[in-house]
Amino acid sequence: MLDGLKSSLGDAIKKIVKSSGIDEELIKELSKDVQRALLQSDVNVRLVLEITKHLEERALNETPPPGLSRKNHIVKILYDELSNLLGNESEFDFKPGKQNKIILLGIQGSGKTTVASKLAKFLTGQGYKVGVVGADTYRPGALVQLKTMCEKSNVEVYGEESNKDSPSIVKNGLNYFKDQSLDVILIDTAGRHKEEQDLLEEMDRINKVADPDLALLVIDGTIGQQCFNQAEAFHKTIPVGGVIITKLDSSAKGGGALAASAATGAQIMYIGTGERIDDLEKFSPTRFVGRLLG
Ligand code: GDP
Repeated sequence: MLDGLKSSLGDAIKKIVKSSGIDEELIKELSKDVQRALLQSDVNVRLVLEITKHLEERALNETPPPGLSRKNHIVKILYDELSNLLGNESEFDFKPGKQNKIILLGIQGSGKTTVASKLAKFLTGQGYKVGVVGADTYRPGALVQLKTMCEKSNVEVYGEESNKDSPSIVKNGLNYFKDQSLDVILIDTAGRHKEEQDLLEEMDRINKVADPDLALLVIDGTIGQQCFNQAEAFHKTIPVGGVIITKLDSSAKGGGALAASAATGAQIMYIGTGERIDDLEKFSPTRFVGRLLG
């Protein structure tokens, strides 16, 4: 994953490390190399300029702390700036003694249904009692897919095959689970087309009915630049509390992860690394940047 970005950032860093001395010209060159590497990896241009502006300012003005060479200090600044953008590691903050409701948002094909099943299994494995509401009324087969995947982890799924009104399914589902001693209810929603007004309106209705404790935005890591706009549009409708980036096992360039996180101000919590139910990893910003910088 992220091989392109890793090798171009790696080349930029090599230039610094191999140089005979650091001067303003070399820092500007590093900044240009980093810009090129990030833009080629689909990182939003606004973010790229922000990162490289900080990089240049700090590399030119900061004195390295004792024991750190100027070259290594500059590499560390780059590391810091990329990590800052991604935030810290974040955990679910479930309240005990109540049913914590998590709504999954994202456009069709982003991997929501797969993530719902993966999270149901993951959380069950951590000892939580989980129920799932399948309210993706748009995609044929979504409910069957969800039920089949959740059956393996003994998680019950509430759905209504013949009802096309997702907000009412969410309402009925929450009612259905009301008296069960569950810790978490995952709500899978419809995704239709990106940024479609109807979709956002439906999300708004679901949000009112569900009153979720957390909205998780599921973003396909292979879509690159569009991540930023997509994330921003959803965030305006339902405040996003966490992001899950899927398909990072494929040829994803990875820049979208930085963009989605920045557009919502929410942290990336998990990444999907395959189609199987266990292909879910906790996201670690430091490991992500570490992998990028080699
Ligand atoms: P939804 O429309 O958002 O519910 O999307 P689905 O959960 O149905 O996923 C769409 C497609 O992406 C399916 O073929 C999934 O198997 C696939 N998919 C989901 N997550 C991942 C992932 O992390 N890696 C890969 N390679 N494929 C994934």
